[in-house]
Amino acid sequence: MQGVVEEVEANEVRLRLRLRELVEVESPSEDKAAVDRAGELVTGWASELGGKVKRHRQRGFGDVLELRFGPTRSKAGRVLLLGHLDTVWPMGTLKSMPWRESDGKLFGPGVLDMKAGVAMALEAVAAVQSLGQERPVTLLLNSDEEVGSPVSRAITEKLARECAAVFVLEPAQGLAYKTARKGVGHFELCVEGVASHAGVDFERGHSAVLEMARLVEKVSNFTDLKRGLTVNAGVIAGGTRSNVVAAECRCEVDVRIAKAGDGARVERMFRALKVTDKACKLTVSGGINRPPMERKAGTIALFKQARRLAAEMGVDLAEAATGGGSDGNFTAGIGVPTLDGMGGVGAGAHADHEHVVAKHLVERTALLAGMIAYPAHPR
Ligand SMILES: [Zn+2]
Repeated sequence: MQGVVEEVEANEVRLRLRLRELVEVESPSEDKAAVDRAGELVTGWASELGGKVKRHRQRGFGDVLELRFGPTRSKAGRVLLLGHLDTVWPMGTLKSMPWRESDGKLFGPGVLDMKAGVAMALEAVAAVQSLGQERPVTLLLNSDEEVGSPVSRAITEKLARECAAVFVLEPAQGLAYKTARKGVGHFELCVEGVASHAGVDFERGHSAVLEMARLVEKVSNFTDLKRGLTVNAGVIAGGTRSNVVAAECRCEVDVRIAKAGDGARVERMFRALKVTDKACKLTVSGGINRPPMERKAGTIALFKQARRLAAEMGVDLAEAATGGGSDGNFTAGIGVPTLDGMGGVGAGAHADHEHVVAKHLVERTALLAGMIAYPAHPR
């Protein structure tokens, strides 16, 4: 790993400059033109490395970029580096949250989630090339991850199927790589009641708010902490005035599952919900969006290799599981060994204090490069 570290170190200035450049091209998921500008920037860097560019054109989102490097085949198989160009930050955020370096930290919208991961991926590919350790690599950068990957999911799954391993460029968990993620679901409950005057006509009314209160209790009881299943009724809205029996109420529910088998089961439980007050009408929509990334043999093998390579650099690499989802859930869900959290080290993703810790950039990029160059089990 010594050679890899030296190679990445030699280009550390470029890595930092590019990270700043990418952060300063704002790219909220909702703004196609903005995300495409970030895509242009990265495409230029990829072309310098001889990358073949394929644009999966989109209307509602930025184009999804498929960048291919290295030979078309090798014994070790192709690697998919999986990232996204979009951020949760609206246009203009840079004014209040500009690029800033202080105390060894790099601040800015999307710097951790996940512009650092994107800049690191290109440096990792460059390092692998310089060392003559060629391996087929696909870098897939989507434009819609922060809104659930509606257009890129199919592309991600298709490209993952031709790969031996997937390395996800999402932020590390503390200093750890992620070997498990919960699956994510989103449901919406709508209750239609019967409105009436709470004083004059109380008995003719059927309260949608009361009915929803019962339903919130029911779905919350689906939570089973031992199974890693959680249900959070996070948003509720209904009624018009306190002296009106509410005609309607709506609730948005977040569901997390740790076991793949719970997906269908939870969906059935939501579909089977019934109202207590028969005069009320319930509509349930939504479902499980991302399957869980379970800690399976393929992922464990990848992590063990990462741990070995990290040890060569004097780093004791830890392993973590998280309740948050990523595109790694999709690739793990179709059975391709996936290791996640291989991007930047820092804190505050989606928050005002979002930052990357600068001193880890070289080490983490070198580890990513090492994982491409020195696969554990050639196949
Ligand atoms: Zn992300």
